[in-house]
Amino acid sequence: MARPVQYNITKKPLETPLGIASAPDGFAGEGFFAARLSDVVGLARKNSIWPLPFATSCCGIEFMALMASHYDLARFGSERVSFSPRQCDLLMVMGTIAKKMAPVVRQVYLQMAEPRWVLAMGACASSGGIFDSYSVLQGIDQIIPVDVYVPGCPPRPEAVLDGFLKVQDLVGSERLRRRNSGEYSELLESYGIQ
Ligand code: SF4
Repeated sequence: MARPVQYNITKKPLETPLGIASAPDGFAGEGFFAARLSDVVGLARKNSIWPLPFATSCCGIEFMALMASHYDLARFGSERVSFSPRQCDLLMVMGTIAKKMAPVVRQVYLQMAEPRWVLAMGACASSGGIFDSYSVLQGIDQIIPVDVYVPGCPPRPEAVLDGFLKVQDLVGSERLRRRNSGEYSELLESYGIQ
């Protein structure tokens, strides 16, 4: 008797072959390769981002899909999700942030070491979403700087992956001295962060 569930046991060829990250621009010769330090550091950082998920509501469920086998954020070197701010470099805020919760988000951000990046996932984290009310923060960029916004209510995991790739681009191309620059200090000071 045929069983109702059929398993696909035939191996499919990969559409794109697995490979390692390509080397940054530089000079190669016999037995040496020279490149800019910032490019090499950027390459390492962008392929080993450790996210901190700050999930308060429905967008957090999409994040679970993002981490599961079908979408699998681990493919980008980010399977190591941490709930310790001191061991993360990407704060992913997903869900409605009530004004009472805002100081907590800010505290988590402050506890992260530099360099740190922030991704606002979904309409609520980006702008308050449909909750235009007295109790809901109208976007986390009112309390902390945000690097990438992912629209949607909720955004599909593909959209979050796209946002994550944008974060990777930022991380990979960031100048080493950016965090010590006056421009960056001004940005933090505009949020009251020393
Ligand atoms: S953006 Fe939509 S799905 Fe995401 S937390 Fe807000 S209401 Fe929920």
